[in-house]
Amino acid sequence: MTTGGIATTSLRVDADGAPARCGICGTGAFDAIQRQSLALAGLGRHDLTFGVCTACGHVQQTPPVPESVMLRHYETMSNYTAFSDADALRTAPPIPLTQRLLSIVRDTGVRPGRIYEIGCATGLHLHQFRKAGWQVSGCEPSPRAAQQADEIYAIPVDVGDEASCLPRQAGLDAILMSHVLEHLFDPRAAVTRAHAALADGGLLVLEVPCATAPDLLPPGWFSFEHLHYFSAETLSALLGAAGFEVLELRIAPRAFIYPVIAVVARKTAAPVAALRPARMDGAAAVARAYAERERAMWARAAARMAGLSGPAFIWGAGVHTAQLLHWTGIGERLQLRGIVDRDPQKWGLTQGGTPVIGPDAFFADRTGAPIIVSSFYAEREIAAGLNRAGIHPDRIVTLYS
Ligand SMILES: [Zn+2]
Repeated sequence: MTTGGIATTSLRVDADGAPARCGICGTGAFDAIQRQSLALAGLGRHDLTFGVCTACGHVQQTPPVPESVMLRHYETMSNYTAFSDADALRTAPPIPLTQRLLSIVRDTGVRPGRIYEIGCATGLHLHQFRKAGWQVSGCEPSPRAAQQADEIYAIPVDVGDEASCLPRQAGLDAILMSHVLEHLFDPRAAVTRAHAALADGGLLVLEVPCATAPDLLPPGWFSFEHLHYFSAETLSALLGAAGFEVLELRIAPRAFIYPVIAVVARKTAAPVAALRPARMDGAAAVARAYAERERAMWARAAARMAGLSGPAFIWGAGVHTAQLLHWTGIGERLQLRGIVDRDPQKWGLTQGGTPVIGPDAFFADRTGAPIIVSSFYAEREIAAGLNRAGIHPDRIVTLYS
């Protein structure tokens, strides 16, 4: 969910388009699994390939989205800042993700010490770790989120990514990376930097999406923002090769919109495991099965829109809409009058040639054109909100529910 490591880690594709390097083993040959041509709000069109390393089996974007494009995406779209009342945030119980992180650490029996979080956003996890006895600090590339961490929780946060901030840390008892590693251009370099910043026996605590159970993965799982798709095998291999011993590893298939894997690994003096390419084929099998199933999921979504013709609106100017346009071709078939989004940062941009507009501009439209709700995660909530705002149910097109 956070963006550590995006700003200054080195590109894996040079200016001449040299091949990408695997984020685990460093070799450069891939088998393609899926391609997407995505029109992103304000960022133009980008062709993505998701593939598997033929040497080690790690699933990843091949090559990754250019780093400058990803950085602009995070700066303009995904700021991960808080909107709730500060008092309410301070007294709120830990969210389920924080509970999983606290629980997996507590169950190792380690005594609280100094913990540093990479990509700590507004500090909501660290706030709860401090309540559990830890001394907390972190880094965060978004200056606004870092400022909120200070204002809301009085947590000291360095503005920057892991590549610039971790080398200034030493002797830490624990490093927390929650939904960060899958966003990084060079995860192996990142865990190596974490190893250097930890005290002997220090803990690296991670949660990332897990490539498992293809039947539970939602449409759009191969995401623009996610450069790496770990399984228990590939994550353990990455950590082992960087000098970590895995103490706890938990897969939660239904904890979030996709399965997640949480790991606590302990720093050891030397690499504890070599990569075993022949054994790391699980993630690729999941990714291939999922790619097949995803095609069918988008075909069902397209069928929900089969009766539409002429002018229409789409709700949501995010990556899901880029994928909807890619997989269903409705941008060519319908006259899209606007893509509606609540985020003022997106207003005035275009996505696939269609202007992004605010809700007020949509509600002012008197044509009665249908609105397609483009979200897997929040579809019901958005449709209910539109209904409450006076949009007749006949005009609201949902794709999943
Ligand atoms: Zn590899």
